[in-house]
Amino acid sequence: MPELPEVQTIVNDLNESIKGKTIIGLRYCDAPKLIKGAVLADFKKRIKNRKIEKVERRAKNIIIFLSGEMLLTIHLKMTGHIIIISNSQFPISNGRVVSRQYIKKGRWVGENLPEVLQDPRNQYIHIVLELSGGYILAYSDVRKFGEWRLVKRDYLSSLESKLGPEPLDPKFTFDVFQSIIGRSTGKIKSVLMDQAKFSGIGNIYGDEILFYAGVRPDRTIKSLKTKELVKIYKSIRPVLEKAIKYRGSSESDFRDAFGLKGHYQEHSFVYRKEKQRCGKCGGVVKKIRIGQRSAHYCTKCQK
Ligand SMILES: [Zn+2]
Repeated sequence: MPELPEVQTIVNDLNESIKGKTIIGLRYCDAPKLIKGAVLADFKKRIKNRKIEKVERRAKNIIIFLSGEMLLTIHLKMTGHIIIISNSQFPISNGRVVSRQYIKKGRWVGENLPEVLQDPRNQYIHIVLELSGGYILAYSDVRKFGEWRLVKRDYLSSLESKLGPEPLDPKFTFDVFQSIIGRSTGKIKSVLMDQAKFSGIGNIYGDEILFYAGVRPDRTIKSLKTKELVKIYKSIRPVLEKAIKYRGSSESDFRDAFGLKGHYQEHSFVYRKEKQRCGKCGGVVKKIRIGQRSAHYCTKCQK
């Protein structure tokens, strides 16, 4: 699942490529269940001719600010991603997807399709928006767990009430971190991944942060000393910033807004490195289960 660095990469890409463009219209949707809180016809009518003013991130949500005080929020869930493509490369004409022969068993396949759609992860296109300036915003999602919402701006306050602070916000001080930890119980990895406590940290960066901190993911909150909490706190920002620098992790589904892979996986230490040698000490990386999720740690570096 995309985490803070992946979503931030997409948000940055969208600001660079489609900020200021207008949504001419919804041109294709074969999975109306992705659109929450509205029937497809209504969504189609209300999104038409809205200008994209800016794009922001809150936790793992992409927030597209639209004209008329509206928001389009997109949560990618497990396998969703947005792909910005030129309409000259896309089978669309007069506001319609014209070559349905490309769509086979839910996948868009064909030599004439844009190069980026030759990557199987990009082929599960379920929503297509046509934008001004010759752009297409396509949404691919093999598992169809993603969530699109066209809502009024006050939706942000209801979203806000369910989420913990942003770890890259300057207001996220050690005191804030410590007080959240102080109100928590259970294993540190699970607490870091709880979106109501900290925004945007998931399985990948939870493992990496704890590696940097030298703390095992299955340590209980109760057992952690203040100096260990300081180490965890001080590892959060560098890990997330490094992952943004490498444009996220693409071991599996993640692609940026141009359909390309991120590179953090080439620089990670423990996530999905079970049975491999730790890049720092030569010890062995172990995989364990914590609740329903996996966790990875170095048996030597992490105590
Ligand atoms: Zn190690």
